[in-house]
Amino acid sequence: MSRDAGEKENPGTQERLKEAAQSLLTWYREHHRDLPWRCSKDPYKIWISEIMLQQTRVDTVLEYYPRFITLFPDIHTLARASEEQVLTSWKGLGYYNRARNAHQAARIIADRYGGAFPEDLQAIQALPGIGAYTAGAILSIAFGKAVPAIDGNVLRFIARLLLLQDARGSSALHRKVDQAVGGMIPDHQAADFTQALMEMGALVCIPGHPRCETCPVNTLCLACAHQMQSELPVKKERKKANPQMRYWVMAFVKENQILMEYREEETLLGHLWGLPMILIREGLDLVQEAKAHFGLDIEAGPVLGTFIHQFTHRSWRMEVVSCSLRQSGPISSSLQWRHFDELPQMAIPTAFQKIMPLLTAGDAADQGSRRS
Ligand code: SF4
Repeated sequence: MSRDAGEKENPGTQERLKEAAQSLLTWYREHHRDLPWRCSKDPYKIWISEIMLQQTRVDTVLEYYPRFITLFPDIHTLARASEEQVLTSWKGLGYYNRARNAHQAARIIADRYGGAFPEDLQAIQALPGIGAYTAGAILSIAFGKAVPAIDGNVLRFIARLLLLQDARGSSALHRKVDQAVGGMIPDHQAADFTQALMEMGALVCIPGHPRCETCPVNTLCLACAHQMQSELPVKKERKKANPQMRYWVMAFVKENQILMEYREEETLLGHLWGLPMILIREGLDLVQEAKAHFGLDIEAGPVLGTFIHQFTHRSWRMEVVSCSLRQSGPISSSLQWRHFDELPQMAIPTAFQKIMPLLTAGDAADQGSRRS
């Protein structure tokens, strides 16, 4: 096929989209999941759910969302909270910039708009951490405005419905899908329609092998008619594998305390607590590097374990080395001894959380204690 079936010349496209929109609404009202953020039209709650759902599965968000909303039930409460409180409540969800941006945005809404969520697209998109998709989701779901919310699920569904063959991630595909969805939104039903599209992409028109036999628009779907469901959206060229960085992670443990580092703002996982770590490069020595980076005079013991943590664009291979201090004087202000009991209250990202059981278990703690 040389031309997208979704091009303007196709006389059936508008009718197809309108009919599909009605079928989607009927299906959504019967089959949607009861998710806690769907019980509310409060833009704050819808915003928080959308931020949490970015790059995160619904099952995971269901564990965190109710607790976050209980701790911070409205914009003013979130705006007044300290960054430490917000990050601690986010602990385990990952992508901590989402939490920092939400916190900053809440402060802006409280200061600039008296705590009322703005209803203007440009004003919403000017807030930290809110892009076109999240702004569209808030405006349509909370305020009932006919603004498209296009994410990967919606792109996939519309690309298949209209047999769009532009590459995934291309501006051409995004533009066509945006135009199609903008023309589909039924009057006064934007909230249900946006959620119907999201639900369709999550439950039926899934990646790989979609569930076409149960799809409410299967008689309208061009990809289904041409047996091309699994080929759309068209893949981009494969990117190179993510680079892996190797680190020594220094484990100093004594008397049920552990030496923690408050990470610098400009580093990955900045403004969070971790274990002091040093990039491994050929020819470097841990003892010398500990002196150069942290001003620490240390003795390095055995490697206790190796952990891999995967980020979006890179991974860390962390070799956890049992270490002890040879100095008794003051240490860098970014390093602090913390009792094991304090760790659950600290904003420690998953990359370091996964190491903690190794260090707080009896043997490791005792071993560290003897070494120090
Ligand atoms: S028929 Fe299949 S490919 Fe087409 S929209 Fe439905 S689930 Fe997706």
